[in-house]
Amino acid sequence: MAEQWTIKKLLDWMTSHFTEKKIDSPRLTAELLLSFVLNMQRIELYMNFDKEVEKQKLDNLRELVKRCLNHEPVQYLIGRTEFYSLSLKVSKDCLIPRPETELLVERAIEFLRTRTGRQHVCDLCTGSGCIAVAMAKNFRDASIIATDICDKALSIAAKNVAKYNLADKIHLLHGDLFKPIIDQLDGKEFDLIVCNPPYISLPEYENLDQKVKNHEPRLALEAGPEGLDIYRRIAAEVGSHLKKDGLLLLEIGWLQGKAVKQLLDDTKIFGEIKIEKDLSDNDRIVSALKIV
Ligand code: GLN
Repeated sequence: MAEQWTIKKLLDWMTSHFTEKKIDSPRLTAELLLSFVLNMQRIELYMNFDKEVEKQKLDNLRELVKRCLNHEPVQYLIGRTEFYSLSLKVSKDCLIPRPETELLVERAIEFLRTRTGRQHVCDLCTGSGCIAVAMAKNFRDASIIATDICDKALSIAAKNVAKYNLADKIHLLHGDLFKPIIDQLDGKEFDLIVCNPPYISLPEYENLDQKVKNHEPRLALEAGPEGLDIYRRIAAEVGSHLKKDGLLLLEIGWLQGKAVKQLLDDTKIFGEIKIEKDLSDNDRIVSALKIV
């Protein structure tokens, strides 16, 4: 008689295999892959431990396990990730939203809640749209323009906007940083501009973990010799897009605080420029309030 693969047996097998091959979070990864293949919630796996899995599903699972062992991120394999308590669609065309970026969202929402009336917000390099969607879900009176240079990433953002019924609050525009806003001759200045740009330096990029380097889009990660290319361009253009008393919030790499602060200082349009650390005690967020 052929071997019977139950849910429990499959989870145990994958977990030990992933552990042996040093895949991150082996048990969680096993549960995510199997619940995806079986179209179940993770909790349902536990309620169906002894259920046998049919051959077609086993074949699908085997294929995903193979890709996982090749260090393809599990979020791409199952096509989604969790961000700011939302379930977002992702694909290899966009960066996988990182937990550190939730801090940027947190600060954005805090700032918006200090203000009254409709808030005009701009999210540059929106990628999967994670920041825009999380802000829109958590602040009622926001009108958000989110731009990205990559139209394939924007189509993922569009799916996330649709999934959470936010089409009336988030307007997606295709183009480089502020360029699509200028092209639209939209003279509007924003109350808040947020951006998690590509910020990995070239030498760092070469040494990135294979999981990131071989699978996530280079365009979303690498930004020149010091990783500062996009910050320079934002600093040069931000003045004409931000209201007086408006806030600029940027995610940065852990070694970039001083350099980014200097770039913003040089514009002479910001008051206090603050650098904030993430939960791992690395510099991660720069905030700058426009005073002129
Ligand atoms: N804004 C998106 C994110 O935070 C994409 C960022 C990027 O592509 N660099 O995940």
